Amino acid sequence: MSDFIERRIALSWAEPKRTYDVVIIGGGGHGLATAYYLAARHGITDVVVLEAGYIGAGNSGRNTTIIRANYGIPEAVRFYQHSLELYQGLEDELDCSIMHTRKGLIWLAHTEPQLRAERARSLLNVACGAETVMITPEETKQLCPQLDLTGGGRYPVLGASYHPAAATARHDRVVWAYAQGAMRRGVHVVQHRKVTGLLRDGARITGVDTTAGPINARVVLSAVGGNVSTVAAQAGVRLPIRSHPLQAFVTNFYTEAFQPIVSDTELLCYVSQTERGQMLIGAEFDRQPSYSLRSSFSFLQSTCAKVTQLLPFLGDLRILRQWTGICDISADFSPIMGATGVDGFLVTTGWGTWGFKAIPAGGEGMAELIATGRSPALLEPFGLDRFARDDTMADPGSTGTH
Ligand SMILES: Cc1cc2nc3c(=O)[nH]c(=O)nc-3n(C[C@H](O)[C@H](O)[C@H](O)COP(=O)(O)OP(=O)(O)OC[C@H]3O[C@@H](n4cnc5c(N)ncnc54)[C@H](O)[C@@H]3O)c2cc1C
Repeated sequence: MSDFIERRIALSWAEPKRTYDVVIIGGGGHGLATAYYLAARHGITDVVVLEAGYIGAGNSGRNTTIIRANYGIPEAVRFYQHSLELYQGLEDELDCSIMHTRKGLIWLAHTEPQLRAERARSLLNVACGAETVMITPEETKQLCPQLDLTGGGRYPVLGASYHPAAATARHDRVVWAYAQGAMRRGVHVVQHRKVTGLLRDGARITGVDTTAGPINARVVLSAVGGNVSTVAAQAGVRLPIRSHPLQAFVTNFYTEAFQPIVSDTELLCYVSQTERGQMLIGAEFDRQPSYSLRSSFSFLQSTCAKVTQLLPFLGDLRILRQWTGICDISADFSPIMGATGVDGFLVTTGWGTWGFKAIPAGGEGMAELIATGRSPALLEPFGLDRFARDDTMADPGSTGTH
């Protein structure tokens, strides 16, 4: 666990100019990280990030903060492993505590087919550079003494895959740290400035219209999370994305330590403990596409029924808060980063329920693409053109949640 040192985060706001080299729409983790790496790695500082609300108002400030690389396809494992490693050095790079804490992630198996799936995951992870090992029920219990190995008599634990490098980090500090790093290098970040349209010169996007007038740019990047379909539509781009709500909740203080992150593919739920001792619980996204931020009682009811089978102590705690974010879920559950076929207009999207862990690698890669005009190798497989080539990268076993 990192020692948390509270230091003032110095954010300096700017009045936007009329013209920039790069306009980034959306002050979430991906937009701000791209701005930071443009300035820090490529010396490109003539950049503005335009945020409709406040920075981190979207999913980057609403997620359950899990960082892991134990995905189910090689391209994803390599990409997320790089991101996980960037996170490990982020406090030094950004000179700011993000409360990065290594916890380890247990993925439970209740049936023989699930055990085989977890074995396959472990082998693939190791082959692609991420550490994941199989553990027995007894080893699982040692890592998480609170676990009921009978699963309430219905979901017996036959084994699990264990990903020791999985971690968490304080989500809004990640947003603020990238914002501070970008601002220190001269990037402008403007809050409460919604992009309402895109400017065109023939087939090329040449800037954005905002609630306070137009801004011209050589490149416009959309990093707007669940709102991407409406922004991309203004450029005439139809994306294979649906926006779905994803909910989560925390309980009151649990007095004992709960070290790992516990996940379950059959029950599609996961549990960890926050730095404040609250139990943080998430599950799969709502099946009905929607832009509604309303939380539902049915989500609480079904998720509580699942997690208390595995971790009976949760039944004695009280639910403190519940919230919702709108997730940009792609057709193959993998992100979409890069060109859109419209000159001057790029996207970083499809981050769905799993994009917090991707913020460093996604931002670094998008900055390289904008600076050099070439997609770095780690981003290459995630281009939008994969759908036209029928070369999609379905990873549903790993990405329905966190
Ligand atoms: C409940 C929940 C739990 C999650 N848990 C995890 C997890 O454990 N691990 C993980 O890796 N991921 C998780 N995620 C997913 C993760 O939070 C997102 O994928 C990630 O934060 C996306 O970052 P972003 O920068 O693309 O989008 P966002 O953080 O949503 O930022 C987009 C920003 O764009 C702004 N915006 C929108 N439209 C406009 C406009 N027209 N003009 C200007 N600004 C605009 C919004 O206000 C917003 O601030 C979770 C998500 C939710 C909702």
